[in-house]
Amino acid sequence: LLTIEGVWKNYHGHSVLRGVDLSVEAHEVVCLIGASGSGKSTLLRCVNLLETVDDGVIYLDGDEITDVRVDADEARRRMGIVFQAFNLFPHMTVLDNITLAPRKVHRVGRGQAEKEARELLARFGLADKAGAYPDRLSGGQQQRVAIIRALATRPSLMLLDEVTSALDPALVKEVLEIIRELKAGGMTMILTTHEMGFCREIADTVCFLDGGVLLERGTPEQIFTDPREPRTREFLRSVL
Ligand code: ATP
Ligand code: MG
Repeated sequence: LLTIEGVWKNYHGHSVLRGVDLSVEAHEVVCLIGASGSGKSTLLRCVNLLETVDDGVIYLDGDEITDVRVDADEARRRMGIVFQAFNLFPHMTVLDNITLAPRKVHRVGRGQAEKEARELLARFGLADKAGAYPDRLSGGQQQRVAIIRALATRPSLMLLDEVTSALDPALVKEVLEIIRELKAGGMTMILTTHEMGFCREIADTVCFLDGGVLLERGTPEQIFTDPREPRTREFLRSVL
């Protein structure tokens, strides 16, 4: 579904991604781990074309989306991205937050968009919040709405960047539950998280980034119990 080949990203002459190769199959869940500043968010932003890559190519469904002639908005519409901070529009109800992109970008009619939004809200236990404004929701609920909003455009790939790290521990569970559901539904995802227990549970593949280098990848079992690289071992020792 997604192929990243030799991607480099530099900021002010400093390389934060150094030749990253990664491919993601349909329905695969890839978890990026690594120290703060190792390039996890930058890699997700490059995939979503929020950043241009300085070298390398990225293919989505066989199309080279890093090609300068490609319509970045069109490519971006095939992905959903959710960040640590919820980024809901505060002046819009939950329903309007969710239906905005389907209606304005994907040209879905209001009735249809609202029907689908209500179905998603019901599926994730938020049916009664459709008319609420974001400031009336808990952080966990806001983040669930942000995920639902990203799902409403029916992306073929979801990118989730530390979606639980701004939340109180008590609220983390409900957001992780949504991600479990997405996996059960076959959604392809790349996520970054500091929750190693969750990473181990949800990931098909774990990738360890170290100073912009994708140093090691493997099954959760392999990475968490028998990492090959000393740097991976050191990182895991520091966070577990
Ligand atoms: P964290 O776990 O803290 O979220 P991360 O692995 O997501 O870290 P990135 O946010 O990808 O790390 O940052 C990688 C490096 O790139 C860091 O050194 C950061 O300072 C640098 N960086 C990121 N964005 C920019 C930017 N817009 N301009 C300059 N430097 C940047
Ligand atoms: Mg980050």
